[in-house]
Amino acid sequence: EKWALMVTGRTPTNIAVIKYWGKRDETLILPINDSISVTLDPDHLCTTTTVSVSPSFDQDRMWLNGKEISLSVGEFQSCLREIRSRATDFEDKKKGIKITKDDWQKLHLHIASYNNFPTAAGLASSAAGLACLVFSLAKLMNVKEDYGQLSAIARQGSGSACRSLYGGFVKWIMGKEGDGSDSIAVQLADENHWDELVIIIAVVSARQKETSSTSGMRDTVETSLLIQHRAPKRIIQMEDAIKNRDFPSFARLACADSNQFHAVCLDTYPPIFYMNDTSHRIISCVEKWNRAEGTPQVAYTFDAGPNAVLVARNRKTAALLLQRLLFHFPPQSDTNLDSYVIGDKTILQDVG
Ligand code: ATP
Repeated sequence: EKWALMVTGRTPTNIAVIKYWGKRDETLILPINDSISVTLDPDHLCTTTTVSVSPSFDQDRMWLNGKEISLSVGEFQSCLREIRSRATDFEDKKKGIKITKDDWQKLHLHIASYNNFPTAAGLASSAAGLACLVFSLAKLMNVKEDYGQLSAIARQGSGSACRSLYGGFVKWIMGKEGDGSDSIAVQLADENHWDELVIIIAVVSARQKETSSTSGMRDTVETSLLIQHRAPKRIIQMEDAIKNRDFPSFARLACADSNQFHAVCLDTYPPIFYMNDTSHRIISCVEKWNRAEGTPQVAYTFDAGPNAVLVARNRKTAALLLQRLLFHFPPQSDTNLDSYVIGDKTILQDVG
């Protein structure tokens, strides 16, 4: 039997505006709080993954950015197991290919994935990567679950991956069940809802970070007192701000949540520093501008890395923002800024 069946998926990354930080279950990846994110435009930060199956493959293998990586990691295994267990019969009469539910358990996969942006540099490559893997595998294996169920599978690969299955604004509900069945992502608003927002990512450093999110979160949960004060009230306020396209509230909440998250990192033992001097100077620059305008024009948020994600309220503001950034932080200068990525917060999720 000389055939291979393949599916290619493309999934953008997402940027949390109310952060996920801390797990209550490390195996199932269940968070200690709800989070909200914006899914980016796939033209800029996205993962493209091709999954293929063939009777001639003798083991599961995966390549990330052209380099073979091990699939024996727990997170990958969870996703493969969950998808395989939901596989359904597939038949292509013309080509004479038939794969039954049982065949899927025995057939091996080859997976090739490519990120068009730095991997493991705090730009949520794991979110786009694992969402894309689950999405593409589900298509390949004829899985008939809805996006909510798929998000719960992606979550077991990388927590924030569950939010990349939808475009627009997405909430990851922490859930209450011990088995994680209600810890899923839901779409709050689609990609057309608030389309004047423009996101600019200032890549302060594309180097791999020193503290991985996984170990950082574990240390925080074990040692930070401040983490108990992260306010669930912000989730409701952020949902309202998004619903009403209320930029001043959106910006205040996003900035406050980012700063609180980094305060929690500092309150962790050993303390975690994700932002650097350039990150701090970008914050000052935006805060000064917002205060001078009297009402927020730009929001900033920083994940587990020094890179700034800036959200401008419209295109005009985005142009001004870029001008200011280029003036104060010229790329490749001693300010240590690597590059800019600019995109609308639209999304597409195509499978070819
Ligand atoms: P952060 O989540 O803190 O914003 P990050 O996601 O870039 O940053 P990590 O959390 O360290 O960084 O995740 C990197 C890991 O995610 C990689 O080592 C790899 O295991 C996985 N990963 C990244 N890209 C892909 C991909 N395209 N397909 C599958 N797995 C990926």
